[in-house]
Amino acid sequence: LFIAFEGGEGSGKTTQARVIAIWLRDQGYDVVQTREPGATKIGMRLRAILLDAAERGLSARAEALLYAADRAEHVEKVIRPALYRGSLVVTDRYVDSSLAYQGAGRTLDPEDVSKLNAWATGGLVPHLTVLIDTPPEVGLARLGGAADRIESEPLEFHERVRKEFRALAAASPDRYLVVDGTLPQETITRQIQDRIREILPD
Ligand code: C5P
Ligand code: MG
Repeated sequence: LFIAFEGGEGSGKTTQARVIAIWLRDQGYDVVQTREPGATKIGMRLRAILLDAAERGLSARAEALLYAADRAEHVEKVIRPALYRGSLVVTDRYVDSSLAYQGAGRTLDPEDVSKLNAWATGGLVPHLTVLIDTPPEVGLARLGGAADRIESEPLEFHERVRKEFRALAAASPDRYLVVDGTLPQETITRQIQDRIREILPD
C-alpha cells in the first residue's frame, strides 16, 4: 500500500505523515516513511541544489527535471523495493507536487510535467493521496518566515499551487482524500485514519 501526502507550505503534511506512520506501525505494519525531495543519497544532493540554486533563478524546466530525477531515484531505490517487500509506504510529497509547483506554479505545460513524471516513476501511482488543503496565507503564517526559498514566492504562486492540488483531487476522487488543513490536528488525523482503514490490507 502506497500513500502520499500533499499540500502547500505549512499545511501540516509532514506532521500528519509522521503521526499516520506511527499509527500504522502500532498496528503491526511494516512502514517506510519517506519524503521528497531528498530521500536518497543522490536525492539529498538534488534537494540541496533545488532549495538553493532556485533562489538564484534555476530555469523552470531544469527545476522540473531535477525534481523528476530525485523522484526516479526515490521510486527505484526506496519506494518500489519497500512495496515489493510488502511494506506500507508513506511519502511526504510525490508526483502531484510537481504538477502543482512546477506545472501550475512555474506555469510549465501540465501535460509535459505529467509525461515527464510518468516516465520518471515508471507509472507508479499511490493508492491514496491525502491532500491537506490549507489557504496559503494560513500555511505561510505558520512557518513564520523560517523556511525554504520557495516560500518567498508571491502569494499568487501559492494560490496556483493550491488550486492545482484541488483540481487534481477533484479529477481523481477515488485516489484522493481532501482534508481541511485549518481543522485541529487531531481531527485531521482522525479523518485520514478513517479513510486508510478502508484500504488497509489484512
Ligand atoms: O516538503 P518541503 O516543504 O520540505 O519541500 C521543500 C521545498 O520544495 C518547499 O518549499 C516546496 O514548496 C518545494 N517543492 C517544489 N516542488 C516540488 C516539491 C517541493 O517547489 N515538486
Ligand atoms: Mg518547506
